[in-house]
Amino acid sequence: MLTVTTIGYPRIGKNRELKKAAERYFQGSVTADELLQEGKNLRWQHWQKQHEKGIQSVPSNDFSYYDTLLDTAFLFGMIPERFRSLPQDPIIRTFAMARGYEKNGHKAKALAMKKWFTTNYHYMVPEVDDSSTIGLMGHKPLTEFKEALAYGFHTRPVLPGPYTLLRLTRFSGKTSAQTIAAPLIEAYRKLIRALGAAGATWVQLDEPCLVTDVSEEDQAFFISLYESLADPDAGVSLQLQTYFGDASPLLKTLYALPVQGIGLDFVEGISTITSLEQEGFPEDKILTAGIINGRNIWRNNYQKSLALLRRIAAIVSSDRLVLAPSCSLLHLPYSLGPETDLSPETLGALAFAEEKLEELTEIATLFGEDKAEFHPLFLQNQQRLEQAARIPGRVLPDVRRKTEPLKGQGFRRFPDEATRRASQSQRLKLPLFPCTTIGSFPQTADIRSRRRAFKNGDISMEEYTSFIQQRIRDTILLQESMGLDVLVHGEFERNDMVEFFGEQLEGFLFTKNGWVQSYGTRCVKPPVLLGDVNRPRPMTVDTWQFAQNCTEKPVKGMLTGPVTILNWSFVREDISQQDCLFQLALAIRDEVLDLEARGCAIIQIDEAALREKLPLKKNQWESYLTAAVNAFRLCHDGVRPDTQIHTHMCYSEFGDILDAIDTLDADVITIEASRSALSLVDQLRQHPYPRDIGPGVYDIHSPQVPDKNEILHTLQVLLDVIDPKRLWVNPDCGLKTRREEEVNAALRAMVTAAHELRQDF
Ligand code: GLN
Ligand code: ZN
Repeated sequence: MLTVTTIGYPRIGKNRELKKAAERYFQGSVTADELLQEGKNLRWQHWQKQHEKGIQSVPSNDFSYYDTLLDTAFLFGMIPERFRSLPQDPIIRTFAMARGYEKNGHKAKALAMKKWFTTNYHYMVPEVDDSSTIGLMGHKPLTEFKEALAYGFHTRPVLPGPYTLLRLTRFSGKTSAQTIAAPLIEAYRKLIRALGAAGATWVQLDEPCLVTDVSEEDQAFFISLYESLADPDAGVSLQLQTYFGDASPLLKTLYALPVQGIGLDFVEGISTITSLEQEGFPEDKILTAGIINGRNIWRNNYQKSLALLRRIAAIVSSDRLVLAPSCSLLHLPYSLGPETDLSPETLGALAFAEEKLEELTEIATLFGEDKAEFHPLFLQNQQRLEQAARIPGRVLPDVRRKTEPLKGQGFRRFPDEATRRASQSQRLKLPLFPCTTIGSFPQTADIRSRRRAFKNGDISMEEYTSFIQQRIRDTILLQESMGLDVLVHGEFERNDMVEFFGEQLEGFLFTKNGWVQSYGTRCVKPPVLLGDVNRPRPMTVDTWQFAQNCTEKPVKGMLTGPVTILNWSFVREDISQQDCLFQLALAIRDEVLDLEARGCAIIQIDEAALREKLPLKKNQWESYLTAAVNAFRLCHDGVRPDTQIHTHMCYSEFGDILDAIDTLDADVITIEASRSALSLVDQLRQHPYPRDIGPGVYDIHSPQVPDKNEILHTLQVLLDVIDPKRLWVNPDCGLKTRREEEVNAALRAMVTAAHELRQDF
């Protein structure tokens, strides 16, 4: 039988035990020892579970109390100066690097956090300044290897590989990836030798950066790293693991490296199989073949996987072939066990981490059978897939009738922006530097507990609605008193900007316990797009109307865009993403038109997540952006010229997709800017943006309340690169996460600054 492995497992705990323990530790209600004990329990559970499900080769060091990249940075001494005076204890230091530190006169800002490739996981960005001495400073992988061994599990320690680590590191001083490469590789060698001495036979080095664009120079650097890493005396084989796409362009390079195993992704790397057939595979290496999707929740199709596997096995003999998921299972919920409300058909359609383990061993079993097609496991799989296809709502003929004619079409709103702008300004009569916010207002404990009570049926719909309305009225009055020009209703009725819409649209499934780690102790429960999307009734119109009735000033209609809804959900694989996008766009389009018909003059369609799913290879950007832009344009191509369409994006690196943002054809964009120290200004200098724009003028993430002069200064800086007639004044996004006092003081300062600025024009 083929060997079966995983290349990483979820670590937050089946019931988010790690999150809960860590948060209690942060609050001081459990000790560090208690937290460490919880970690130990979880590691044991995860090894045991994988072993129980038939996984022969199980990884270790895929566990982390916060983030594995952070652990690795710490392990190798990538510790910026500001953390050096803190207590040496790894748990205190790594949490300080993750979350910032302020205690006993020490103060240190956290490391930056970034999206992990195209997933919704965020890693801590390792930072190296000139004070760092790179070397082996810790022993976490070794300790966890020994811990597993003591339980009887002979594991394969996993580490981020040196190339990916260096590519993702931020160098804030004079040092660079090149200058620290030698001591870093020396540290890896030392660690690998120590692991070998402790009995490890394989070490896995994760190199997802290899599926991005790798220039020739980078390639040479990558090769040099691995050549100096090779250490025949260590007695340890190295498995170079790629995932999240195609490493095909580098296959020959990988084959020539002094590593003993190569891991390839045959799921997202759609041309991996043909490249393998063209290039063959070296006789002296092991192939870890990622053949089941490690980051989506659908049941595998055994027939297809077996066919793929047979093609692979024609190139690589089965003694050198290891079956695996396409990537770490970190991005999946734990198990379908708690999903007791789902129908048997739906359960049969899904596979979370535990079920993926079963799939792997079943595929390995079937592969060894002469007549796999008649095997009960095979037949059961086929039956599940057939039943899954018939789940009610998968195909809604009315929806298909509407989306079918849209294929291959582009959408365009008339008339052009300049003409629309004139009619909008006549209708809205906004002052120069109009002041607004991004949508949400603080979600107090009170609001959360009422929402929970309503969901649990403890309070009636009437009670809940009147509570929400009271909050809306107060918030409208508050915004008026502050002097804001374009108001929002505050989003108090929304728990999450995607879930809120998903719950009202047909086609979504919500799990009870489908938590996935987003960063550190934070988890999300992404909705599952299961069927065709349909909007049975308006979703936001009454709430908007209520808010608008409270004021003479315009209240923005507030919607989440189709691309963001898609990107923050588990997506279907039975129809194309393009088709899903059309369905979502049509639902949002109907909502836009209903808002407009009630008299809503400004509608904001948030595309917070548009950038984050940009493909890892640049040559695929265009097709992604075309589809995304097209979907957005479909949402608003039917509105009147004097209806103003806003969009919002939460990222600051936007210079490189500015053309695409412009082609969204929104009238106004608000964009996060202050959290990233206004790097937007440089980008706007290089690529002037031709429309109305509101860069966030203060960082809402900082507990420090900005004063008027700071904001005035920011506005002056922005005016260097933005036409005064086109500058909007708003904070960064995320007010819902702050306290009311902070928000009120900051917004008052912001409006005062805008008013002062108007005097000069
Ligand atoms: N309208 C949303 C809000 O203000 C936007 C959230 C976001 O930018 N992620 O909360
Ligand atoms: Zn945002």
